[in-house]
Amino acid sequence: MSEPQIVWLRRDLRMADQPALHAAAQAGPVIPVYILDDERAGDHAYGGASRVWLHHSLDSLGKSLGRRRSQIVLRKGDAPQILASIADEVGASCIHAIRHYEPWWKEAEDELRDALHDLGGEDRRLCLYDGNYLLPPGSVTTGSGDPYKIYTPFSKAMLEVMPPRDPLPEPETIHSPESWPESDDLGDWGLLPSKPDWAGGIRGFWHFGEAAAHDRLGWWTDEVADYDEGRNLPSDDITSRLSPHLHWGEISPAQVWHKLKDKRSDGWKTYAKEVIWRDYAQNVIDQFPEYPRESYRDYDERTLWRNPNAGHLIREDLECWQKGMTGYPIVDAGMRQLWQTGWMHNRVRMICASFLVKHLLIDWRFGEQWYWDCLVDADYGNNGVNWQWISGTGVDSNMFSRIMAPLTQSEKFDAAGYIREYVPELAELGDSEIHDPPDEKRGDYPAKMIGHKEARERALEAYRASKP
Ligand code: FAD
Repeated sequence: MSEPQIVWLRRDLRMADQPALHAAAQAGPVIPVYILDDERAGDHAYGGASRVWLHHSLDSLGKSLGRRRSQIVLRKGDAPQILASIADEVGASCIHAIRHYEPWWKEAEDELRDALHDLGGEDRRLCLYDGNYLLPPGSVTTGSGDPYKIYTPFSKAMLEVMPPRDPLPEPETIHSPESWPESDDLGDWGLLPSKPDWAGGIRGFWHFGEAAAHDRLGWWTDEVADYDEGRNLPSDDITSRLSPHLHWGEISPAQVWHKLKDKRSDGWKTYAKEVIWRDYAQNVIDQFPEYPRESYRDYDERTLWRNPNAGHLIREDLECWQKGMTGYPIVDAGMRQLWQTGWMHNRVRMICASFLVKHLLIDWRFGEQWYWDCLVDADYGNNGVNWQWISGTGVDSNMFSRIMAPLTQSEKFDAAGYIREYVPELAELGDSEIHDPPDEKRGDYPAKMIGHKEARERALEAYRASKP
């Protein structure tokens, strides 16, 4: 029998259109390995909601592999070191993996290459494949050959070269090695909360794993035509909700594109541009690896932000936002949806992010970290790029001085049903009152933390004072 082939799994937890698995299966017996390497990502180690998703996704892929008489070897620790030692133990010449663009994964890929070289010279290799994006970041460039920094020209250039390559099928055969390296038990990793078990809302809202992702895509095929009109309306369910499946790689964007591309509706055209946003965000972090941590405009940030670490009143403001107790129903509905389900509608993600940054003048990084901890689709590129876009501090920016009015947004996008669902203490109010309840009808629901006009003036003043 030929040498065992290791497949290093990360956010690519699927069997079909998985080029690393595909290549490994053709070359010899396959040893799929997943390593929980928390330290490497530092402040972007998986948050609470992500860990719940990861548990279920690994469980689901493990079962799919089990039906093919295979399994996932689970380990915790330094990924390059562990992979090199497994390669040494089983005599594998090649570790196959899909490329990832988070800076800590790029670093890990370099370290692994070196470790394999130290072990076996040219005989042991890391074989990297593209597959989690429509195109590898950096492959679509401007006329002068540079990667794009701005979304709109990037998107136009992407549309000219679409569709992506055809998706690969599941491997026909997956041979097992003669013996398996040791594996941890998934349950022992403690990814699921127990005391208390706060993940019931997430389990109730989602189905995890590759089969669920394809079910969702099947449903979406019939709905995508309405996306153009419906995507901004949080009370309706007219977005694909594929984001966690795409983030964890349970489905590939090429599979999504090819399933939908013949739909030819305006809904599909708009949807395609949103999927391209995801590629755009990876292009940004590929160029600016610290983007989710650093502002890219020269504002004087000491003047611009109120720092929650500097005083308990600002800390309390941050906590009111986190708990959905700002007194703005649309913001509170969004923040509670996030807490309960691990997801928030895109329009409301924008309103809530803008409220933190502009109304409360709290540094966008506190919001980025909260979303990071609470979202099941928390993605280094998508989260960082969107936060910087909202706060007006990034390379492709909404200006800081553009301030979203939450009450107007709530009415305009008809959020009454959404508010009733997530802010039940206001459920009895009619459509004319629910967006901005009169004081006497608020009951236990809090008063507004700050008036919109006052907040707007304060933000504009801070902006003027901190502008370069
Ligand atoms: P759909 O509307 O059905 O869109 C289809 C797919 O396109 C999504 O699944 C997603 O993969 C991609 N997409 C859509 N909009 C965007 C966008 N603005 N940027 C990048 N990709 C996009 N998305 C994440 O996947 N992870 C995040 O951590 C994340 N953080 C965000 C933070 C803020 C402040 C904001 C404003 C947006 C953030 N988004 C993030 C983008 C967007 O809100 C979600 O992708 C979308 O709500 C997911 O729901 P859906 O799958 O139904 O999206």
